[in-house]
Amino acid sequence: MLLQKIKNYEIFRPKCDATKEVLHSIALLEEDISPVFPYLNAELGGWDYDQRNQVLLLKLSEGKWITLHPREIAIRGARDLEESQALLKWITEQINEIWERRDQIQPRFTSQAGLKVMEILKLLPMTNCKACGYPTCMAYAAALREGEISLADCPPLREEKYREKREKLQAYLESYGWRALDAV
Ligand code: SF4
Repeated sequence: MLLQKIKNYEIFRPKCDATKEVLHSIALLEEDISPVFPYLNAELGGWDYDQRNQVLLLKLSEGKWITLHPREIAIRGARDLEESQALLKWITEQINEIWERRDQIQPRFTSQAGLKVMEILKLLPMTNCKACGYPTCMAYAAALREGEISLADCPPLREEKYREKREKLQAYLESYGWRALDAV
């Protein structure tokens, strides 16, 4: 087990806007968890991974983020104490479970932050048909890059004539570890 002990756990409202209905929390760790970062990045689709400074950023659903440092877990955007604790439990389990399986995982050193909207756009039908609910393919590409939607939200991409584009887009996204996370 890589992460055995949380030394300290602090939960607070953001100082910049204490009226916000979200909580932030920081857990200080006894152990250095940085060796698991490239494996977590591969399995969970890290939003940003700074290998030199050992910082891994995970983007979850509904504006929630988890930032991992070697001896710290910071959670932003939980609705309440219960959700904050559930997220800490979830990421703690992921760290230990993925560490146990690391021999079967190809570590990843790239991240979704490297995805480029223009590269995504080039691989879309580019008809601006609005079937995805966005006014343009560019707006859809930007939302896709942010991990807010999936390829299934563009119905024309399923058409046979766009098969090559769809497969290239899928490969491009996966090369950056793209995955929409939905932890809780
Ligand atoms: S459904 Fe696809 S082709 Fe149509 S606007 Fe959205 S991204 Fe473009």
